[in-house]
Amino acid sequence: MKKYLLTQKRWNAIITNDNRLDGNFYYGVTSTKIFCKPSCSSKSPKKDNVVIFKTVSEAMKLGFRPCKRCHPTGIKVSNDEWIIQIESYLKKNFKRKLTLNIIAEDCHSSPYYLQRTFKKMVNKTPLTYLSEIRLNYAKNLLKDTELTINNISLQSGFSSDTYFMTFFKKETGITPSEFRSKVKGDIYG
Ligand SMILES: [Zn+2]
Repeated sequence: MKKYLLTQKRWNAIITNDNRLDGNFYYGVTSTKIFCKPSCSSKSPKKDNVVIFKTVSEAMKLGFRPCKRCHPTGIKVSNDEWIIQIESYLKKNFKRKLTLNIIAEDCHSSPYYLQRTFKKMVNKTPLTYLSEIRLNYAKNLLKDTELTINNISLQSGFSSDTYFMTFFKKETGITPSEFRSKVKGDIYG
């Protein structure tokens, strides 16, 4: 597929939400896999993460999804589709330090609206969903690697190993070390 340049003119249009270039190009953000019209009022992306498209179908072919705020395809993005975007964003970015504000900004919404919609559709908050992804990832590392607990908590996106151990015990009833001996014992014993 042809690669289009992020020219100064295009970049200016993105950061000033200029609607005069709407229809002329679209831009995707690689960290979120969401694409927008130049005029979208979402927070300006990091320049390094921007990819330019000439058509909606180019963006979709590469797995980018339309932004809920500016709906670049001209069709309103349904809540179902938006939830899929948020979930895949969280699965891709769980290792980063994330807050509700960051998630909302990256998924092009207000924190309040994101929290309310996610909870209504998924029956849990986005942060609970995120903790579950982190927990499952940590479980796999405990099972498949010899990494230390501290290392695993960091790699899984937990803010500290103390928090990781507390959360792990709360969710599973056992400590990470107990979990590790148990699964490794099941394999070798
Ligand atoms: Zn947008």
